[in-house]
Formats: sequence, structure tokens, C-alpha cells
Amino acid sequence: MVSNREVRLASRPNGWPTSANFEFVESDVPAPGEGEVLVHNVFMSVDPYMRGRMNDVKSYTPPFALHETLQGGAVGRVEASNNPAFAVGDYVSSGLGWREWFISDGRGIAKIDTSQAPPEAYLSVLGGTGFTAYVGLLDLGEPKPGETIFVSAAAGAVGSIVGQIGKIVGCRVVGSAGSDEKVSWLRDELGFDAAFNYKVEGPEDALARLCPDGIDVYFENVGGDHLQAALNHMNAFGRIAACGMISQYNNSEPQPGPNNLTAIVRQRLTIRGFIVSDYADRRPDFVRDMSMWLREGQVTDRVTTVEGIENAPQAFLGLLRGENLGKMLVKL
Ligand code: NDP
Repeated sequence: MVSNREVRLASRPNGWPTSANFEFVESDVPAPGEGEVLVHNVFMSVDPYMRGRMNDVKSYTPPFALHETLQGGAVGRVEASNNPAFAVGDYVSSGLGWREWFISDGRGIAKIDTSQAPPEAYLSVLGGTGFTAYVGLLDLGEPKPGETIFVSAAAGAVGSIVGQIGKIVGCRVVGSAGSDEKVSWLRDELGFDAAFNYKVEGPEDALARLCPDGIDVYFENVGGDHLQAALNHMNAFGRIAACGMISQYNNSEPQPGPNNLTAIVRQRLTIRGFIVSDYADRRPDFVRDMSMWLREGQVTDRVTTVEGIENAPQAFLGLLRGENLGKMLVKL
């Protein structure tokens, strides 16, 4: 029997979530039964899409239920096993984050290879984050060498990988982020050709200054004023990979949309939304390429870590406020 702490949704936020929307519950986890394993989570992920799941609306995933344990990506260590497929000491990934311990019959958990990379990398560069950047940029953005890519939320988990892949495929890469520290990191350490702090210089002025020859691929993470500005600077036959629109997630009322959608016709643009889970057939290519880029030092994985499940809600709220450089994780 081990003592477990987990986080549940106490109430649905209206606008920005607060710590009052979360509740902590302690429970005892019994020893694993026949065919079962006991897993201790070592890292869990907090992600922007979780904000959408807190609303009671129809979407591509069902909403979180009130007073039930939240879910999300996690990696953990097998601490006891009655299942021949898993040994004590194996690391596994699962969708059972927001809790310290759980029992599994083996379904919904997958072994990860920690000789390749540390466990937390399977929640960032080698997990859904890296995969989102890979398919979004390469399959939807279709970048060609010499083209200009603009990526918003560029110093975040997905954006920072998008920019690095953009450099690998021979593009000029421009990013936006919410602090001078983030901008310096993008330019000085990740090799972005240019970056701007959108809180100091709005995206319209910054793109006019930094993309004088226009944008061929916009990797959209933010929406709102970023989408409006990008549309004004897209080149003919440009592509917009619509990955997310985080500036809209805490709106309690619908906001006005961009007023320049005629650019889609004038510039013959392709705008395509995507959800990474639809691209499972590309996973082997992603694992092959990303493992190689990591080995060769062409991609750097950056993680911001918050300690302890008691701070998981703060990590999530901090992510929405931009307190992360790279991927935001909670160490359990
Ligand atoms: P990030 O690590 O990028 O964290 C979110 C970042 O968004 C913050 O760090 C903050 O950085 C920025 N941000 C928050 N509010 C605003 C705002 N109003 N305007 C501009 N920037 C803002 O998260 P992820 O990398 O996990 O996700 C990035 C995007 O990708 C999100 O939109 C997410 O929903 C989407 N996504 C989509 C997937 C798919 O399958 N389509 C899968 C995974 C993610 P800053 O300091 O720069 O403001």
C-alpha cells in the first residue's frame, strides 16, 4: 500500500483559471494484483490544451469531469510488477498525469528507452511536443530551403522545436516571444535569425521590420493580433499551420477575428488546422529524425521544471502566463 496524492478539477474556470479550480485528494494505492504494475510518476506535463478540457464543451477530446482526477502526459518508473511485459525499474509513458502513483494492467502505458534520453525528454522533444512541431512544420508548413518561417510562442515547448527544425531544413526563422530573456535565448542559443518581444513591439511592426521579404510559412500558436499581422505579411502561396491559438483560450466572450481575411484570397494562402494525434503514421519518421538531430546536437531540448504535485496547478497557470522557457514540466 502506498500513499498517493492527486489533483482533481474542483470547478470550471470562467476566464482565467485560478488555484481554486483545483482540489487535492489523498488516497491509498494497493499492491498490484495479477497482471498489474505499480507505477510512480516522476514527471508530468502541463499543456495549453488542458485549459480547453476544463470547459464543458464538445471538442476533439471530452471535457475533464468535475471531482475526477485530471489527465495528461506523464512518465513514471515501475516500482512493482506482476506483468511479464514490465520489470521493476522500467520507465513508462502514460496519459495518467496529475497523480503520484497508479496501478495499470499494462494497457495505456508504453515502455520508454531511457538509454537514449532522460525520461522527461519523452514528454518534450521526443514526446507529443516534438511530434507536434515535426508534423506541423514539415507536413502542413511544407517549408523549402531559403523560405521564411514565422513561429509565434517561439520560446515555448512546440515553438522552440519548430524554429530549430526550420533551421535544419534551411529556412530563415523568425520568432515572437513574451520577454527579452526569451528573445535572447532564441537568437543566441537556438540560432533563430531574428526574434521580437511582442509585449514591447507589436507583431505588425515587428514583422514589417524583420520579414521585409514576407513570410512563406506561419506556424500559428497564438492567434489574435499575431494571426492578423501574419496575414498582412504572407507571401503568395504561403502556408499557415494552425497548431494553437493560446491568446484566445481564457476568453470568456468571443473576441473579434482578424479583419484582413481577404489576404487568404489575394495571396492564395493555405490555412490548415491540425491535431497531432491524427498523424500516428508519421511517428516512426519523427522518432528516427528527432533521435538523430538530438544525437548530432542539431536540436536542443529545454525544460522548465516545477517541483512537487502540490505545485502542479501553479505550473499550469504559469504556463498560460508564459513563465516557461521550453517545455513546462512538474517533477514528482
Ligand atoms: P508553450 O510551451 O508554448 O506555452 C505556452 C506559451 O504561450 C507561454 O509560454 C507564453 O509564452 C505563450 N502565450 C501565452 N499567452 C499568450 C498570448 N496572449 N499571446 C502570445 N503568447 C502567449 O506551450 P506548447 O508548446 O505546449 O503549446 C504551444 C501551442 O501549440 C498552443 O497554442 C497549444 O495549444 C498548441 N498545441 C497544439 C497541438 C496540436 O496537436 N494542434 C499539440 C500541442 C500544442 P510568452 O512568454 O511568449 O507569452
